[in-house]
Parts: sequence; structure tokens; C-alpha cells
Amino acid sequence: KREDVVYFGAGPAALPTDVLATAAEALQNYQETGLGVAEHSHRSQLAADIVNNMKADLVDFLNVPASHEVLIMHGGGSGQFDATIYNTISIWVEKQRQNIIQSKANASDAEVLEQLQQKVKADLHLDYLVTGSWSLKASQEAVRLLGPDYVNVASDSRKINDGKFGKIAEESAWKLSDRPAMIYLCENETVDGVEWPHFPKVLQSKAADDETVIVGDFSSTILSRRIPFEYFSIVFFGAQKNLGSTGITPVIVRKDLVSLLTGKNTAELIRKLGLPVPPTILDYSVIAKNNSLYNTLSIFDVFVAGQVLKKLLASFPDKVQGQEVVAGRKSALLYNTLDAYPEVYRVVPDKAVRSRMNICFRVIKGGNVDEAEKAFLKGANDRALLGLKGHRSVGGIRASNYNAIPEAGVEKLAAYLKEFATTA
Ligand code: PMP
Repeated sequence: KREDVVYFGAGPAALPTDVLATAAEALQNYQETGLGVAEHSHRSQLAADIVNNMKADLVDFLNVPASHEVLIMHGGGSGQFDATIYNTISIWVEKQRQNIIQSKANASDAEVLEQLQQKVKADLHLDYLVTGSWSLKASQEAVRLLGPDYVNVASDSRKINDGKFGKIAEESAWKLSDRPAMIYLCENETVDGVEWPHFPKVLQSKAADDETVIVGDFSSTILSRRIPFEYFSIVFFGAQKNLGSTGITPVIVRKDLVSLLTGKNTAELIRKLGLPVPPTILDYSVIAKNNSLYNTLSIFDVFVAGQVLKKLLASFPDKVQGQEVVAGRKSALLYNTLDAYPEVYRVVPDKAVRSRMNICFRVIKGGNVDEAEKAFLKGANDRALLGLKGHRSVGGIRASNYNAIPEAGVEKLAAYLKEFATTA
């Protein structure tokens, strides 16, 4: 039965049962209209209200400042690997164009193009901080779209950890470009269990000099931690972990940067420069102008996310700060239990960068890891503790401690960890 199961899956993740009950009703008959929420037109007032309410509650819960706006997009986190690149390129080109015109007001189109071509060659670099599988994938996508010359992996955690993820290098060791067009990081690495313990200082100075678009992938940590929006130009996340059902991808982006994207001639200029022109559906300014309803949006998924946010707002007067405390308490219980049995469990990432959302560990009891992990998973399954198998690329055990997992569920897992460790 549903109420007996605790689901630790990494995403799609567990959703609160009362939210699902409301959603099930809304799917058939939304607000007594005789039609379900997935059937109503995305052009209806009813759909616009669902979108606007969800956006307002997201802004409220996360304390998003007026400098930023919320877009709701499709394509998941993976779609944003591309969207962040395309939009950054457009922003960068438009900024450079404006600089050129400012220094020579009567520059001809040909002159502008020539100067831009030189600028691209000399100065266009997208910097990636690779701390796990997802930031690696994002950086590989950049190489695929732009070629290696424009992409700078400023730090690769594998280089300081025997070829594996699990640490984050000191800032002083990073090799950032002089004037990066973008700095990209993944706040929480879902596969590797690595989370940034604090946000890098360099983001602050780069945000202040305003030449760099700073991007954060918050897919697996959103709504569990305060975000310093003053550092971040673009924050994105797929909904399917802490926010709702799979199918929508919110993006929180600086309004002044979105307004740079609306230049009519930018696309042509970008094409002439040999850089990739953003597909319309990934262009932040198009989505912003249309209140996220440029094309058919899954209003059902927006509705579910809205219900999750309403529940969070009702549960936490301190909003995300309140949820952050609970997330810390739940993950501490699991890590403390794992650490209490070092001869049975080995936490994968370094202590300093352990994720509060995805707790990755190996079962080393008895020396045969494969067998020990099989036995561990079987015992977990018997106790209705589900979704604990690690990502297929790394193996091991992963307990995803998302917001919808109640403290009682985490306590149940902690009790099993102890039981498994102490029985022969
Ligand atoms: N970034 C992170 C941190 C993720 O965990 C995931 C998916 N688990 C992605 C990006 C890719 O997201 P999607 O499957 O929505 O494309």
C-alpha cells in the first residue's frame, strides 16, 4: 500500500499523497467545470491563473528578487544545457555589439561585424565547473554545440580524486578564463552525491563586474536551500524532484539579460559570426514575452507544482529557510548512521561536499560489495524502502532525501541501516 512505502528514488521522486489526490480530482473535473485541468486550453484564463499563481508562490517561497523573473519551459534540465548556451551567446553578442556602437556611434554594419569577429576569436569563453556527471554532461553539450575552442573546463573534480567525482577543488586552483561569458555550476550532483557546501566567492565578484552570465543547475536541490540570486543570472531546474511531476522546467533569469535578447538583428548577427542561433522554443525572451505560454504548456504539471508550493508555504512560515532546516536534519540522521558503522558502509563523496539530497554510499560489509549491496537492497525492499539503487553509471546505493520524504520515512531507513549493520 502507498502509505507503507517510502520511496527514495532520485527523480521522478515521491510526491505528497494529498497533492496527488487533489491532482487526480483536477484531472477529471477542474473547479466544477466538467473538464479536467489537462483538457482546458492553455489559452484560457483558467490556465493563465494556474501559471501565474504557481509563479507567484515560487517567487514567494524562494524569495526571488524583483531583478529576476520566472519562466516555465519544457525540455527538462537537459534542454537547459542547450538553452543556457544559446541565450548566453546571444546576450554576449548583443553586449559586445552595444559596446562597439558606444565607442563608435557611426560604425557601419561591416565594421561592427569585423570587430565582433575579432572579439569572438579573442574573448568568447564559456567556463564550466565540473563537479559531477551532470555538469560534465552540460560541458560536453557546450563542446558539441560550439566546438572545444569556446569551452573552458575551469575545474574538473576527477583530477583531484583519482579520476572519480566526490570532491570540489579549492577556488584558487580553478583555471577561469579572464573574462568568461559564462560560469556554469551544478549546485547538487544527483548521481555523485556532491553538493556545493557554499557558493564560490568568485561568483560574487563576477556577478559584480557584470560581464559574466552565471548559471546554476538546481534540478535536484531546488526548494531545499536558499539561493543567493544576487550571484546567479540564470537558475534552472526540472520539476521532477522537489517541485512536482515531470514535464516542466522553471528558469529564473535576470530581467535585464532577457531584455538584451530581444534585439531584432541579433539572430542574423549570430549566424554571420558562425555561432548557433537559439531555437525559438529555447529563447528566454520569447518565453518571457508570452508569459510562458508561447506554445502548449503542460498546465497539469504547473498545477501539481503549484499544489506542492501551496503545501510548502502552509507548512513553513520561514519558507525555504524552514525547509532547509528539515533537509539538514534528515540528511544528518542518515550520514550519522552511516558514519557510525565504518566497517559496513562507506559514504562515496568527501565529507566536505556531501549532498543533503542524494546520499550515495557503498555497502562494504564482509568485503564482497556486490553481494553486500544485493543483500542490503533486498532487505530494504522487504521493508518497503524503495528506490535505493544507485545510478547505473556508478552503482552503489543512493537514498534521495527530497522534500516529500517525511522525517518518519528517513527514520525508518536509519533504523534499517542500523539493523543491517548490526545483524550478521
Ligand atoms: N541536472 C541534474 C542535476 C539532474 O539531476 C538531472 C536529471 N536527473 C538533469 C540535469 C537532467 O534533467 P532532465 O532529465 O530533466 O533532462
